[in-house]
Amino acid sequence: MVVLEREAESGSPWRAAPLGRRGLFATSIDAFYRRGMLPQLRAAGHTFPGAPGPSAPRIVGHFAGMMIDGSVIDPAAAPYQLPRPAPGMLMTSLTEIEEILAARAEHLGVRVHYGAAVTELTQEDKGVLVRAGDDEYAARWVVGCDGGRSTVRKLAGFEFVGTEPQFTGYTMRATIPDLDKLGTGMITTTPTGAYIRMSIGQQVGHVAIMDFDGGAFDRSRELTRDYLQSVLRRVSGTDVTIEEVQLASSFTDRAMQTTSYRRGRVLLAGDAAHIHSPLGGQGLNTGLGDAGNLGWKLAATVLDDAQDDLLDSYTRERHPIGARVLDWSRAQVEVMRPDAHSRATRSLLRDLLATRDGATYAAQKVSGACIRYDLGDQHPLVGRDVPDFHLEGGSRLGDLMHEGQAVLLDFSADRALRAPVANWANKIRYSALPARDNLGLAAVLIRPDGIVAWAVDHDPDRGEFEHAAGRWFGKPVLPAAAR
Ligand SMILES: Cc1cc2nc3c(=O)[nH]c(=O)nc-3n(C[C@H](O)[C@H](O)[C@H](O)COP(=O)(O)OP(=O)(O)OC[C@H]3O[C@@H](n4cnc5c(N)ncnc54)[C@H](O)[C@@H]3O)c2cc1C
Repeated sequence: MVVLEREAESGSPWRAAPLGRRGLFATSIDAFYRRGMLPQLRAAGHTFPGAPGPSAPRIVGHFAGMMIDGSVIDPAAAPYQLPRPAPGMLMTSLTEIEEILAARAEHLGVRVHYGAAVTELTQEDKGVLVRAGDDEYAARWVVGCDGGRSTVRKLAGFEFVGTEPQFTGYTMRATIPDLDKLGTGMITTTPTGAYIRMSIGQQVGHVAIMDFDGGAFDRSRELTRDYLQSVLRRVSGTDVTIEEVQLASSFTDRAMQTTSYRRGRVLLAGDAAHIHSPLGGQGLNTGLGDAGNLGWKLAATVLDDAQDDLLDSYTRERHPIGARVLDWSRAQVEVMRPDAHSRATRSLLRDLLATRDGATYAAQKVSGACIRYDLGDQHPLVGRDVPDFHLEGGSRLGDLMHEGQAVLLDFSADRALRAPVANWANKIRYSALPARDNLGLAAVLIRPDGIVAWAVDHDPDRGEFEHAAGRWFGKPVLPAAAR
């Protein structure tokens, strides 16, 4: 496997904190944990910026800048909960995430070619030809993870549809001697827009601005000091002075998504498949979710000749999640517009978010805890992220998943599934260890991405298990007739 990266090297200043600071939510943190990368993430992670001291509310995210107080959330709302391996939210940076993932890729023998910008792509029957600089690569499959302006998406002819922007956003690092004239809230909303001041007590400030101009800024124009100062003054309603701009970039809340995540042998993940405003910190989390969902399916396809349908389940499962995230960000833009109607809706929502049901609903949306893929099974745990069972002997489920295999937890008294699982031994790791709390389950089959593929509360039925294993992990080693 080869990764082609346009940048000549890692370490862009845009990726380091504070400009590259990003919030990871529970589902993403769990994904790192299940591959043994939680210690690295914890070492890199920080608490939520602006979160007050221990006695103050536990902030678990925000909706349009309105904080969601974790202490108000109903813990019983999500079914099948067990203590998690880490806090529900960690602030880290793109640089740190890139470093952790690059180390993992290297450990797995993946080659990363820097300075390799993809410029041409041709699909053929059995593969894809990709050109990057002077080099041509013949690949069986290509995954475009090349961001919101994805070249792969364009070259492969994906349909990209959605809504046009309502604001232009700017992020900058600039010398601002009177930075203290700006508010320090998570997001400061004003009669003309909103802004975020990311550094406190320094003259070199990191600021993000939302200017409700209908996304009118011409992105080919230079972002000069005078221009940025005029926007910042207008939006903040202050006479703040920008002395020098070191870095600046613009973005919008254009919300678009490809109609499918697969075209032949080309797949898309992350911003290449869906773009939206950064409000609520969902883009990276959604992209990591895409990668986790696609990775094992593509590996099974390449290595095992899995049924074609397995790869198509990627779009089926992830496209609705992307669409929900786009709507979540659109809804936030709607209540941040600087007009009387939006202000009224915002005030109403603020009251709702302070209630138990409101905070629980929003926290589940933000964290991804509400995600449940429709896998056609009635058991309420199927299609959800698996809880982290504590197993006898001190290990936890996450410890069994480091190598990226599926896991079968057999809590039944007579270890009923030990024999049938042997037929998938190269794909499914079997554990018959009892759990400290098995949540009333008799058996759970977990996909490599941590999603429950099959679960039963009663004595497990061999046939039911074999059906589920066959559906997700292909044919058994020994066909039924030979057993
Ligand atoms: C101000 C701001 C704050 C945000 N905060 C959050 C947050 O808190 N939480 C969150 O979840 N999300 C957040 N996001 C969104 C998040 O940063 C993005 O969704 C995420 O970085 C997208 O990752 P990606 O890998 O899909 O794309 P990118 O990060 O854009 O990476 C694409 C990569 O592809 C490379 N590339 C591009 N073209 C080519 C080519 N032709 N050939 C080879 N390589 C190429 C690029 O160099 C780059 O390395 C924020 C975004 C912004 C702007």
